[in-house]
Amino acid sequence: MTITENKVVLIHYTLKDNSGETLDTSEGREPLAFIQGIGNIIAGLEEQLEGKAVGDKVKATVTPEKGYGIRSEENVHIVPLSSFQADGEEKLVEGMQVRVETNDGVSIADVAKIDGEDVTLDMNHPLAGETLHFDVEIVDIREATKQELEHGHAHGPGGHHHH
Ligand code: ZN
Repeated sequence: MTITENKVVLIHYTLKDNSGETLDTSEGREPLAFIQGIGNIIAGLEEQLEGKAVGDKVKATVTPEKGYGIRSEENVHIVPLSSFQADGEEKLVEGMQVRVETNDGVSIADVAKIDGEDVTLDMNHPLAGETLHFDVEIVDIREATKQELEHGHAHGPGGHHHH
């Protein structure tokens, strides 16, 4: 069996940036499970895993366009400090992450800067603009169940657990 659309795939992976620094790895954890072809993982990695088999080792370089996108100034917003103080949460400091309401639902933003009453929120993905280097080992490939396809994610080890 090879990796094609709607297969559940289990992989071990290590993700490094351009400088060779490890950003994320499944080492020491159970493999990551995802459904191929439905956007569970970034497009550039799906593309390069398509057609691979169990035991294959894949080195995949993914450009920002097919990874987490390009950094955009449209994702940077300045909002008044007072909008944070109303709910009495912990004090806002630069570098912390906050949940913000957007037209698309709740999103995570970095507090990039606090200048007097102006708070700069950066809603770009932390890996936006990064070229990503993956070392992937294909651990298992199987058919997705009907329920997994309905839910849009893999179940079981490395996937979602429902209780
Ligand atoms: Zn589910």
